[in-house]
Amino acid sequence: MGRESYGQYLRRMSFAEWLRKLKAQPEEQRTNAAAARVVELWSRRHARGAEPLLVPTIAAAVRAGRPWLSYQCPACQMIGETDVRSFERHPHASIQSLIPLLDCPRCPAGPFVVLIGLAASPAITSRLHLPKRGI
Ligand SMILES: [Zn+2]
Repeated sequence: MGRESYGQYLRRMSFAEWLRKLKAQPEEQRTNAAAARVVELWSRRHARGAEPLLVPTIAAAVRAGRPWLSYQCPACQMIGETDVRSFERHPHASIQSLIPLLDCPRCPAGPFVVLIGLAASPAITSRLHLPKRGI
């Protein structure tokens, strides 16, 4: 982790401002409930291996109160998790767009990780939380 660049700072501040505005909206509770439904629908379809007809955005995961994304390395089966709020990504980017940013420490040149699900809090202490810096 290096020093934060000015561009990274601006994106972080922009994201923080966006989150503040979202929280101030009068429909917040309704929107959060909708986000929770979207996340739950994705989670259930994903858990049973069904085609993902929708994928939650980073903002939906945060609004749903389930920002912890768990995933698995298909090569060595190691499970990791990360906080979707820790990435410098547009809040409307899908959680699947984070896949290329996640590395398995055992398999640095290995296949892309496979998403498992979203949770309210970290379930495990992970060493897989290694978001690649830069976009
Ligand atoms: Zn691995």
